[in-house]
Order: sequence, then C-alpha cells, then structure tokens
Amino acid sequence: MVRFLDHVAMVASGRNGFDWTHPSDCNVYLLDGGGEYALVDAGTGESASDILEAVGHLGRGAAKRIRYIFLTHLHADHSGGAAALREATGAKVAVHADGADVLRSGDEAAISLDRAREAGFYPRDYRFRACEVDASLRDGDEFRVGGLSVRVMLAPGHSRFDAYYFVRTGVGRVSLFTGDALFFDGRISLLNTPDCSSRDLARALERLDGEAVDCLFPGHRQPALANAMNHIAAALDCFRSLRLPPSIV
Ligand SMILES: [Zn+2]
Repeated sequence: MVRFLDHVAMVASGRNGFDWTHPSDCNVYLLDGGGEYALVDAGTGESASDILEAVGHLGRGAAKRIRYIFLTHLHADHSGGAAALREATGAKVAVHADGADVLRSGDEAAISLDRAREAGFYPRDYRFRACEVDASLRDGDEFRVGGLSVRVMLAPGHSRFDAYYFVRTGVGRVSLFTGDALFFDGRISLLNTPDCSSRDLARALERLDGEAVDCLFPGHRQPALANAMNHIAAALDCFRSLRLPPSIV
C-alpha cells in the first residue's frame, strides 16, 4: 500500500501507472475515513487478492470495514474486480445509475471490452465478471465514509458511465477522483470506441470549472497532491481553444 495522504492510499496499479499489480489494472485507491474505508475502482479482478492483502495490513477485519466500492466507470480495468471484492468484503458497489444493468449483466460489448481485448489491452482469455449493484448513483449524491464525505458528479465523456468523486475531509481538504476523464497535466484518454465522446468529455470537464479542489487522483499515472486546479485548467484551456488536450495513450 502506498499512502499519499492521511486518508488516501493506493492499493493497486498496472503498467499504465506504477506497474505494480496486474498490468491491465487501473489505479485503485483506498479512502480511509478512520476505521471505515471505501475503494475507488476495483481493478481488473486479477489483483483482488493483492488488494485484500494490502487492506489487511491496516488491521484485523479491516477489509470488512470497506463500506463502498465507488466505480468511476465500467471499463474492465476499473470495474472487473468489483464482484470479487464485493464478495470478500460485503462492500456496497456504487455505479452511475445508467450503467447498473450493464454491470449486473456483465455486458462486455457495452463497455467496449470486446474491442479493447482485440486491441491487446487485456489478455485474450480475460473475461469480465458481472456484479450486483447496491447503489445506483445520481448526480449530487452524497455518502459518508467515517470522517469523510463523498460527493458524486455524473459526467459521461471518456465513457457512457463516468462518475467523478469529490472527497472532503473534516478540515475541508478536497480530493477529486476522475477515473479516466482527466489525468495529471490536463491529459485525457480518448478511445476509438462507441462509448467515448470528446465533445461530451469537454462538457463534463467544464463542470469542474470553479470547483475548489486540492488534489487530483486519476485512474492511471501519477496523482497531483496539490494544485489540482492547474491540471483541470490545462485541459480546459485546450478545449476552449478548440483543440483536444494530449492523450495519455
Ligand atoms: Zn476507461
């Protein structure tokens, strides 16, 4: 486990990040509300036991105190581990309401997994595990994780079911979890898949303008532990001058 802040740690990350767990894994973050926990994203599922082992180091029964698994979207590198982690921990799986049935049915085409597997992003024998959904998210929903509050913003663009999470501590420090919508330096990830739209993404990121955010925790590559607004502004500057921000892949 790599702890970035008192209340944010990383428990998995693949080759498009820290090259630590399964190569296809996204960054999986642990929110530590002080005795109560949540995960942001779940990885591919190939590293579920590594994630549980990392959480286990926090103390006896820590995994059972994971209250939520907040999914930023349903691409398999983020959501494929939801079923295994839900089973092991009893955590509630939270996802964009429009994507709930896609996750429940394990619809690989709806999350572009068929295309991504063909393109080599996943091993050929990788299969997506369907998962029950406990919380169908609406824009503005709020949750408590111990001493942390979590606010949801639904903003499709990188995929049809993108959800951003604003995590606020008791002293008002705000961390933003953007999944694959926004990365360090204002980079983005546009895919040639039916569920990705640059114009929707531009609209989605515009909604971040004026949000007071301190830290940025993206789904791949490194986080920004301060000055998150500069990374948001870098992407908005590109979109506003009718260009696309540089892509991470
Ligand atoms: Zn994605």
